[in-house]
Amino acid sequence: MSKFWSSIVHELTPYIPGEQPKISNLIKLNTNENPYGPSPKVLAALQAEVADSLRLYPDPASDRVREAVANFYDVASNQVFVGNGSDEVLAHVFNALLKHEAPILFPDITYSFYPVYCGLYGIAYETVPLGPEFEIQVEDYMRPNGGIIFPNPNAPTGRLLALADIERLLKANQESVIVVDEAYIDFGGESAASLVQHYPNLLVTHTLSKARSLAGLRVGFAIGQAPLIEALNRVKDSFNSYPLDRFAISGAVAALEDKAYFEETRHKVMATRESLVAEMQALGFTVLPSAANFIFARHAERSGAELAALLRERNIIVRHFSKPARISEFLRITIGTNDQSSALIQALREILND
Ligand SMILES: *Cc1c(COP(=O)(O)O)cnc(C)c1O
Repeated sequence: MSKFWSSIVHELTPYIPGEQPKISNLIKLNTNENPYGPSPKVLAALQAEVADSLRLYPDPASDRVREAVANFYDVASNQVFVGNGSDEVLAHVFNALLKHEAPILFPDITYSFYPVYCGLYGIAYETVPLGPEFEIQVEDYMRPNGGIIFPNPNAPTGRLLALADIERLLKANQESVIVVDEAYIDFGGESAASLVQHYPNLLVTHTLSKARSLAGLRVGFAIGQAPLIEALNRVKDSFNSYPLDRFAISGAVAALEDKAYFEETRHKVMATRESLVAEMQALGFTVLPSAANFIFARHAERSGAELAALLRERNIIVRHFSKPARISEFLRITIGTNDQSSALIQALREILND
């Protein structure tokens, strides 16, 4: 604490990102990074940016990225907003579209950054309990609100909400914006971007961090009708005109254009997930159905905290949330390579047999 702080700083409870340990030799299954590197075309595009042109500012509107996103999703480029990771995009979304009199709604178990943005911008919120199987029940959101946001698939559960349910909610909720955070959609769901033409209050956010293996490059985007995008641009241009640097712009374009690599790696991740789920179940774990690049699992007899600690002794890091109580026995495990999966299963077998 310091007398030099603005009053709001005293009130903030910042987000705590998953650990990025400095130790090598670690099997890192805690932050949902992709185990496969970015497309070789991305690496070539980044190398081409190492040039004298770095003395010049990048394109403030990142036109090439917006066009690549527009092509991929078959929308217009004025329906696309890009930012420095989807965390930044989400920050602008909270500020530009979710700050109203009525509280916004999001699930009680979800991405823990949402309440942090509410704290930063002074946005009132109410959490909506997940159903008995940890599912989002859209009926529970059909009440007056200042906006609705949830990840699809949800994090940290991995559970997918069907597009038909999202559409049902959009029809019932036309007075506020519904934000669908699709950080993990490419691992088993269908994007709601196809609904944007029909619903002026739908905003879909996305990231290149997970399915396109570019967590280190920091690129995220949002898709929605032009008036929503304009709100985001007004906030962005009151904050930082150049959220994407020259590397991020070129790398993002190359990643979005290399569909073959994207398809290959996301399918490898999904295949590894399916075999990991079966092996975990054989070891006595209950695994929630996952459409993401992670699974959420609990063991019938062993505590989540204990298992996380014992895995760590074996140089395997997974994520454990001690709160809320309903998920305190679960482990969130990122899908790695097949070799990493085998090492995880081997370690769990040793731990459980001890
Ligand atoms: C990873 C993640 C993000 C943030 O992605 P970045 O683009 O890396 O900032 C946003 N939402 C959810 C639910 C995530 O899991």
